[in-house]
Amino acid sequence: MQVMCDCGRTLNPEGRCDASHALSDKQYVIMLERRRRRTERLKMNKVKISGIEYAIVMKPLEEMGGNIGLANFNTQEISINQNMTAQTIKIAKWHEVIHMLDHTYDLCMSEKQVKFFTHALIALFEDNPGIVEQFKGN
Ligand SMILES: [Zn+2]
Repeated sequence: MQVMCDCGRTLNPEGRCDASHALSDKQYVIMLERRRRRTERLKMNKVKISGIEYAIVMKPLEEMGGNIGLANFNTQEISINQNMTAQTIKIAKWHEVIHMLDHTYDLCMSEKQVKFFTHALIALFEDNPGIVEQFKGN
């Protein structure tokens, strides 16, 4: 097993990092915080559906052609209009994920079914915090 330094490098057999760590303590803390936030952002901007990873990309109004969200099965990309409210963005992400599930599993859902199922799922998760952990059966 490789042991990692806080800077992300692998430690040498003596347990030391081979980097000089020329940064000041303050710069080093800032670098680690930036790395942590970048990692969080990358995790938040992807969703795996049936083994396929989709990027969730926030786009300006001009690139969305009047749409709030778009799901592209061929490019594995979910585009969300960044000019919407946080609430609308949340609904749009769920909505596009359900479109991807519909497409992947050939469910033949109508747009109306996707809309209602989006709101049903959001209500289920928000009315039952921790339901995913609870239902895992661990
Ligand atoms: Zn739709």
